[in-house]
Amino acid sequence: MEIILIVLLGVVLLASIGFIAGGTLRRGRRRGTIAPPSRPPEAPRPTTTTAEAPPVEKPSRPPAPAEVEEQISQEPAGAPEVEEAPAAPSPPPEPVPAPEPPKFRDRLSKARGAMAGYFGTVLGRETIDEETWEDLEEALIRADVGITTTTALLDNVRERVRSEKLTEPQQAIDALRDELRKRLDGRDRSLKFEDKPTVWLFVGVNGVGKTTTIGKVGQRQVNEGRKVVMAAGDTFRAAAAEQLELWSKRVGAELVRGAEGGDPASVIFDASQRAASQGADLVLADTAGRLQNKVNLMEELKKVRRVAERPPGHLAEVLLVIDAGTGQNGLAQAKEFTEAAGVTGVVLTKMDTSAKGGIAVAVESELDIPVKLVGLGETAADLVDFDPDEYIDALF
Ligand code: GDP
Repeated sequence: MEIILIVLLGVVLLASIGFIAGGTLRRGRRRGTIAPPSRPPEAPRPTTTTAEAPPVEKPSRPPAPAEVEEQISQEPAGAPEVEEAPAAPSPPPEPVPAPEPPKFRDRLSKARGAMAGYFGTVLGRETIDEETWEDLEEALIRADVGITTTTALLDNVRERVRSEKLTEPQQAIDALRDELRKRLDGRDRSLKFEDKPTVWLFVGVNGVGKTTTIGKVGQRQVNEGRKVVMAAGDTFRAAAAEQLELWSKRVGAELVRGAEGGDPASVIFDASQRAASQGADLVLADTAGRLQNKVNLMEELKKVRRVAERPPGHLAEVLLVIDAGTGQNGLAQAKEFTEAAGVTGVVLTKMDTSAKGGIAVAVESELDIPVKLVGLGETAADLVDFDPDEYIDALF
C-alpha cells in the first residue's frame, strides 16, 4: 500500500512540473525573450552594382524632379555606388550644308504677277492687233524697262511679227521673250580677282542694301575658301559700321573700321594693308551713300577709288548696288556713280519684294553695265548670280 501511494505521489509531482514548464515556454515565446529555433545562416549576398531598394509602391504618376532629388538624397549612406557605363563617344557634328540658293522663279512672283495681267489680256484676244502692242508696251514700262528700251524692244518684235507673218498672240509674246534674252545675252558677269589682296568697292545710295550685300558676298567668298577682310568705309554713319561688324562676325571675316566721321579712303587703305599682312584674298569695302550733298559724295567716291587702287590693294570691281524697287531712279543713280567711280557691275537688291522686274534690262541696255548679282531676300544665302535665262523665265 505504501508503495502504491509513493508511486501515485511521484506521478502527480512529475505531471505538475511538466505543466509549469510548458506554460513558461509559451509565455516566453510571446514576449520574444526566447530566441526561435535558429535557421541555418544565410550565405553572404554578392555585391551588385545596384542597391537593393526596399519595395517601393509604384507611383501612379511620374515623380516630379523635386521628388526624384528627394529619393536620391534618401539613398542609404554607404549603398554601393551605381557605376555608370562609360558614355559612348558622341559622333562628330554633321557639317551643316550651305543652304540652297533661292530660285528666281520662287522669288520673283511679284514682278511676274505685275506682268501676268497684261500677258493674260494679250492672250485673250484672237489676233495680234494694235491693242496687243499697247498692252505689251504698258507691261514693259510698268516693269521699269524704261521708255527707250521698251520702244527699241517692241520695234524689233513688230518687225519679226511682220516678216515672219505671225498672227497668234502667243507668238508675239514668245518673240518679245526672245528679244529680251538677246539683249541680256553674251555679257561677262563674272566677279574679277587680281593679285592678293583683291579689292571690291561697293557704292550706292543709302538704304539700297550695300552693307547687307557685302555680308552676303563675304559669306559666299568665305564658303569658297577665301580669307576676307571687310572695310567699314561708311564713316558717316556709326550704325553702318556696327551693322558691318555683325556681318563680319557672322561670316568669319575680319573688320577694319575707323573713327566716326573719319576719312573713308584711309579706312579702305588700312584694310588693304591688313589684308596684305595677313595673306587675305579679298577686301570688301563699304562706302557712304549720303553726304552733306551729292557733289561731296561724288568727290569722295573719286578719292576712295584712287586710294583703293593703290598697292598693296588691287581694285578689281566697283559694284553699284541698286534697289530694284527704285526703278528709273536707279538708272539715274547708276549714271552718276559710274561717272564718279567707274562702275564695273551692278547688284540689284530686293528683287523679291519688287514688282518692277525690268530694271535689269534698262541698266544693261542704257548703261552697258552688266548686272552681276541679285539680292532675293535678307539672309546671307539670298544672293544669286544674275542668270538672264532664269530671270526671263521667272518674269514670263
Ligand atoms: P545700305 O544703307 O545700302 O547699307 O543698306 P542696308 O544693307 O542697310 O539694307 C537696307 C535694308 O534692306 C535692310 O533692312 C536689309 O535687310 C534690306 N535688304 C537688303 N537686301 C535685300 C534683298 O535682297 N531683299 C530684301 N527683301 N531686303 C533686302
